[in-house]
Amino acid sequence: MAMAGAASPSCLFCQIARSSTSTSLLHTDEKVVAFEDINPSALRHYLVIPVEHISTVKDLQRTNEDHSLVSHMLTVGQTLLHRDAPQCKQYRFGFHQPPLNSVNHLHLHCLALPFTPRWKHVKYLSLGPLGGFIEADKLLEKIKPLSPISSQM
Ligand SMILES: [Zn+2]
Ligand SMILES: [Zn+2]
Repeated sequence: MAMAGAASPSCLFCQIARSSTSTSLLHTDEKVVAFEDINPSALRHYLVIPVEHISTVKDLQRTNEDHSLVSHMLTVGQTLLHRDAPQCKQYRFGFHQPPLNSVNHLHLHCLALPFTPRWKHVKYLSLGPLGGFIEADKLLEKIKPLSPISSQM
């Protein structure tokens, strides 16, 4: 992870990840933490962020490390929503790509639909090649390592 660095003192999400705010965490492990979006766009709206400061999806590489980090973020988000909103029929998981991201610390939006209020869905539209919102599955495809893990013989 070339761009990944030490925690940035001015980054709100770094502070949340280190539990130095009053934000209550829904999940913590050594790689990621999850919490509720302070300005929810859906019935349930959680964010999953890496503990380590990574700015945006553009800083992710085709490496096993980054790929497994994102897939872990997705698993955590899915588990939380299935636990807290089991009645929902539709979920969305994805990232805002710069320049449309709000906070410069990578965060996975986990949404149990419907959007509330409904117009909020416009914030989560994919704009194709122009960017916009990228589904977690699509991002995982994009950063999938080219060669299998193994080697190191
Ligand atoms: Zn940060
Ligand atoms: Zn966002």
